[in-house]
Amino acid sequence: MQHAELISALERIVGKQGVVSRSDELLVYEYDGSLDTHLPAVVVFPETTAQVAEIVKLANLAGLPVVPRGAGTGLSGGAVAACGGIVVTTTWMNRVLSVDYANRRAVVQPGVINYELTHRTEPQGYFYAPDPSSQKVCTIGGNVAENSGGPHCLSYGATTNHILDLELVLPSGEVIHTAADEGEQQGFDLTGAVVGSEGTFGIATQITVKLTRLPEDIRVLMAIFGSIDEASNTVSAIIGAGIVPAALEMMDGLCCKAVEAAYHAGYPPDAGAVLLVELDGLRESVAELDARIQTICRQQGAREVRSASTAAERAALWAGRKGALGALGRLAPNYYIQDGVVPRTKLPETLRFVEEVARDIALPIANVFHAGDGNLHPNILFDRRDVSSVERTLRGGMEILRHCVDQGGVVSGEHGIGLEKRDHISYLFTTEDLAAMARLKQCFNPRALFNPDKIFPPLRGCGEVRDQRVAARLAKEGIYAC
Ligand SMILES: Cc1cc2nc3c(=O)[nH]c(=O)nc-3n(C[C@H](O)[C@H](O)[C@H](O)COP(=O)(O)OP(=O)(O)OC[C@H]3O[C@@H](n4cnc5c(N)ncnc54)[C@H](O)[C@@H]3O)c2cc1C
Repeated sequence: MQHAELISALERIVGKQGVVSRSDELLVYEYDGSLDTHLPAVVVFPETTAQVAEIVKLANLAGLPVVPRGAGTGLSGGAVAACGGIVVTTTWMNRVLSVDYANRRAVVQPGVINYELTHRTEPQGYFYAPDPSSQKVCTIGGNVAENSGGPHCLSYGATTNHILDLELVLPSGEVIHTAADEGEQQGFDLTGAVVGSEGTFGIATQITVKLTRLPEDIRVLMAIFGSIDEASNTVSAIIGAGIVPAALEMMDGLCCKAVEAAYHAGYPPDAGAVLLVELDGLRESVAELDARIQTICRQQGAREVRSASTAAERAALWAGRKGALGALGRLAPNYYIQDGVVPRTKLPETLRFVEEVARDIALPIANVFHAGDGNLHPNILFDRRDVSSVERTLRGGMEILRHCVDQGGVVSGEHGIGLEKRDHISYLFTTEDLAAMARLKQCFNPRALFNPDKIFPPLRGCGEVRDQRVAARLAKEGIYAC
């Protein structure tokens, strides 16, 4: 199919206003929040499930890749059109279709912004628990595809724990539901399989989510430490004492400086590290936990523990924490965020390793992360215009991720594998594990046209094969093609 013919056919489906094909406009869609970029052939903005299904059928006919896209805040290249093709953006499918407080659920279109659902349900005493730090811009469709986490996932669980049913346009163009009408799971757990499949199994066009009751009381403590070691030992001490806070986040001194300059939220610019601990629940239990955590923090060397009990004080601290990545722009033109996970007890030595890497690659690394989950986010600060700093950044990132795996952890806690970590995944899984996953992908996506070149190490066409063992096994099975 000729390009002009494709554009006309897409315009017939979504109207002229829903198609972007001018090369200067396409530049906006060549990247997400990670480092990789690639231009799509065209970007479309459907408004209904029927339009999505028609677009997918057309792409099938033309043999073109389809890349689902939400707000483009992903941090692993998932929404980057690695092999070109049609980017299907769901941001115009942005309606909350129904809210059922009695049954604690809501049905939303995929382009609904995460925070909007909480904003809408809060006055009735409910919220949508998964809260990635990007929640004021990212979409629930993107959250589903990445199985996104966030500060409060320590006690409430990640996205997968809050999805009841998905309406999915399959790569064939058929429309299915992954659960029965009331969101009850019968037979295979298709919802569980699709959540976290990074847009390779289909496009979620309608999502039934759980709503959570707001707690009676909330408190946020900020514990200030002289060193990262003290702060990370405190994380193990809190969890080891049998306390699971609603959130347990850490920021190192470099981050605190940048955040304080940007937000004036009260973060101490001279700290070695701070912990942000949110407690929620019944008033009496929150007060008791507050006292116990303050004691633990002091025993572990905290020089000060501040308690924010008013909504305004809490909001200021969270604005600083959730805006931390943006504040890093004060320190360098670019940051490269890592997403490795280690057992909590390995935090002190892993953070020491991160410091060694920073020295080795001669670039600063700022840490802001979900410490309670052992989910690290070292941000390597560099300048994309300097080729040598890009090379050192990528090397440093790889060393950190491999170290996490060597500590018994994984290469991604919440940002997904995407393009960015597809070469590292074979360091984590055996060829048999990967072949089983690739077979599942083949069931949903037999022509490999849906979000191609993601998650699995590339075999041919789009890149270099790094792990010959994995490549040979997947090639033998005829499973993976770019
Ligand atoms: C400042 C900042 C802070 C962040 N903090 C966190 C955090 O705390 N926790 C966390 O987990 N992540 C975080 N992220 C990463 C990112 O926001 C999440 O991965 C988010 O879920 C991506 O949503 P999106 O709408 O931007 O999706 P996109 O980036 O557009 O897409 C992400 C993936 O989802 C697929 N996709 C999108 N929509 C659909 C759909 N309807 N159906 C099927 N597949 C689809 C795409 O193909 C792609 O693979 C952060 C990012 C930034 C920039």
